[in-house]
Amino acid sequence: MAEVLIPASPSEAVSLYGDGAGTTVIAGGTVVMPEITYGRLTPGRVLLLSNAGLDGVTIDGTTITLGATTRIDTLAALGDQVAALATCADNIADGEIRGQATVGGNLCVSQGPEAPRGDLQGVLLALDATVRSAGADGERTEAIEEFLSHRAGRLVLDVSFERPSASAFSALDYPHTHEYTVLAVTGVRAADGTIRLAATGLAGTASRLHAAEALASDPTAAGAAAVGDCSFADDALASAWYREQTLPVLVRRVLNQLEESA
Ligand SMILES: Cc1cc2nc3c(=O)[nH]c(=O)nc-3n(C[C@H](O)[C@H](O)[C@H](O)COP(=O)(O)OP(=O)(O)OC[C@H]3O[C@@H](n4cnc5c(N)ncnc54)[C@H](O)[C@@H]3O)c2cc1C
Repeated sequence: MAEVLIPASPSEAVSLYGDGAGTTVIAGGTVVMPEITYGRLTPGRVLLLSNAGLDGVTIDGTTITLGATTRIDTLAALGDQVAALATCADNIADGEIRGQATVGGNLCVSQGPEAPRGDLQGVLLALDATVRSAGADGERTEAIEEFLSHRAGRLVLDVSFERPSASAFSALDYPHTHEYTVLAVTGVRAADGTIRLAATGLAGTASRLHAAEALASDPTAAGAAAVGDCSFADDALASAWYREQTLPVLVRRVLNQLEESA
């Protein structure tokens, strides 16, 4: 029988999480609950975040902060601030899942056995977001690229980024993929004019497309360079080969959309 902990505040959630050892976090539960139901996961200690006060969107000047348990369907309302975030959120799963799934769950979810997961990671990478988390060495705030490279044993509290001057999102979807995204690219033009690109649907977590960014003024060359930034994997949705062929198209589309919005 699992010990179920239901913190009523962020500080209680951090204290109960401790160093995270032996603790399974449940936020929206869209991934964890089926794992438990079908016996693939038998947690000894469960931390339910639903009442922990970690939800909500805060806009302070140009800084936007998303609480860890902010529901994905609420991000659609941010379309006038960050078009790519709203478009990506609206593209995740279906209305029922979006009404339950959370930002923190999307950041921490592992790759699915049959389909990619973690679509928001690409948008947040392109936004150069920072992640505030707690764990064995206390609380820390770090670049999302750092966070994604060692996220085990961390409890996500919130994610912050600066409002960009423009953003664009383009995804490869099929009608038969049960709403999962096969491959997606996000492009952001920061307030200082810097272009940042990131992709999801790759092997492992999302990836910044640094080589493509260096060629952003030439969308065709940037698309070709993006392939070198990524590792691709086969899954039930598409082959690695097909993803590699499609990535340059999505990079070109996103850069052209950013150009049109200039
Ligand atoms: C039919 C279907 C379609 C889907 N389509 C998509 C899709 O298109 N794109 C996509 O990205 N995903 C998709 N998913 C997967 C999933 O719904 C999302 O990734 C969702 O955002 C996960 O969030 P959650 O709050 O439900 O996570 P949970 O199931 O609660 O948790 C997921 C993981 O994150 C950990 N976790 C959760 N919150 C935190 C936190 N604050 N700190 C540390 N660890 C945490 C959990 O311990 C667990 O390991 C789909 C799922 C289903 C069932």
